[in-house]
Amino acid sequence: MNIAVVGAGLAGLAVALGCEQAGHDVTLYEATSDIGGRMKTVSCNNHLLDAGFHVLHTAYPTVQRWIDIDELQSKPMDNCTVTIHPSTGRRRLLGDALRSPRYLLPTLKSVGIRDGLRFFKWRMATSSNDLERAMDTPSPTIVQGLNNRRFRPTTKRVLEPLFTGITLDPSLSERFAFADFTWGAMSHGAMVVPKHGIQAVPKQLFNRLATTTTVLNTAVEEVTATSVRIGEEHHAHDRVVLAVPQHIAAKLLPKTVDGHAPVERLTSTVVFAASRPPFKRARLLLNEEWGTEGHRVLHVHVPTNLHPHPDGLHWIAATLVGEAALQPDEKDVLRELRSWFGPEVDAWGHVNTITVRHALPHIDPNHHARMLPELDVEGILVVGDHRTHPSVQGALASAERALNALNIPLPRRP
Ligand SMILES: Cc1cc2nc3c(=O)[nH]c(=O)nc-3n(C[C@H](O)[C@H](O)[C@H](O)COP(=O)(O)OP(=O)(O)OC[C@H]3O[C@@H](n4cnc5c(N)ncnc54)[C@H](O)[C@@H]3O)c2cc1C
Repeated sequence: MNIAVVGAGLAGLAVALGCEQAGHDVTLYEATSDIGGRMKTVSCNNHLLDAGFHVLHTAYPTVQRWIDIDELQSKPMDNCTVTIHPSTGRRRLLGDALRSPRYLLPTLKSVGIRDGLRFFKWRMATSSNDLERAMDTPSPTIVQGLNNRRFRPTTKRVLEPLFTGITLDPSLSERFAFADFTWGAMSHGAMVVPKHGIQAVPKQLFNRLATTTTVLNTAVEEVTATSVRIGEEHHAHDRVVLAVPQHIAAKLLPKTVDGHAPVERLTSTVVFAASRPPFKRARLLLNEEWGTEGHRVLHVHVPTNLHPHPDGLHWIAATLVGEAALQPDEKDVLRELRSWFGPEVDAWGHVNTITVRHALPHIDPNHHARMLPELDVEGILVVGDHRTHPSVQGALASAERALNALNIPLPRRP
């Protein structure tokens, strides 16, 4: 068959690889000048910088099937999260004591014994065999789910920014099942960052393509079951796979598929350089006061703690989400970070600000299945994280589902 894949993000690349290895002729159309979609890394002042805080979860079953993690020369984040309450300077640590017993006492000190037990119960309920199991039953939203678990308000001041960072949704209206899924992934695997940035993950799939024709800088404007239109040109194909983000799929598909209009979730990363880091571990520092007056920075991490800068510089990355992420002013961000780290921030220089629009899809919280039902929309196969859930696992699982529908076996990892 002659197959068109529209979109060279992770899902599109996986479909293309499966199709070409099954002997089909594949044309991969990509609107931008590069492959990888939202798994993007830019070169900046002699070093690589990811567009947004992005990690690869080694526990994702699809990652294990598709990605050679060793080849990525990744390094893991610490098994814990630290929070800061900027007004008082208080910091708290939350760690997985089952994997790192040294985190037991600091975690109990941070959340108390009762919430410590609630965390333990939640941790024990996660399944390493089927991380997505929670998606198959009705789920409340994350806000409701945290209330149902009866965490104390002070503990929620840790969990709310954590899940806001994961879903990039300040309203926490995503399914709680998705929180369960990510909790399971964090519990049963590592969160790693590849040496050459997160884009090395889709690049690994791209580098395995041998016969696929990749057409960059080419935005497809219309799709049918057997054709794509670019400008005035119509290209005929036996099958068309649409692997674009949710808001583009909503425009290209002949009918509404999700029953709701896509909601934009955006994030900005404001990066500064310093001669010494404000902390030395590969951790997220979450803002417990995030969302209150004057607290727009959601979290801070230091990417160079994991993969050092060749010139010995230290990068400090501040993440903002929602409205606060629209054109953030680096001076405002620096002023805010002064209340976190003190006057040492006055010597920091601004390196870059990267804003990712339409960063993650919005999945209806009433939807309860790991996949959204429609794969085939009037003959077009629709893949991407918006057909499943907003993650690397979701994007690859949607690709596997399309390959399955085409009776194509999953490609073997080299
Ligand atoms: C800042 C950020 C942090 C994240 N962190 C994590 C994380 O820590 N862990 C995790 O599991 N997931 C994370 N994710 C989610 C994960 O990156 C995505 O779920 C996944 O990359 C989506 O892949 P995709 O192929 O579905 O879509 P995309 O990557 O969006 O790929 C779609 C492709 O289609 C192209 N395209 C669009 N329109 C057209 C057109 N008209 N014609 C041709 N091509 C077109 C786009 O340019 C793009 O290349 C994060 C995402 C972001 C943005």
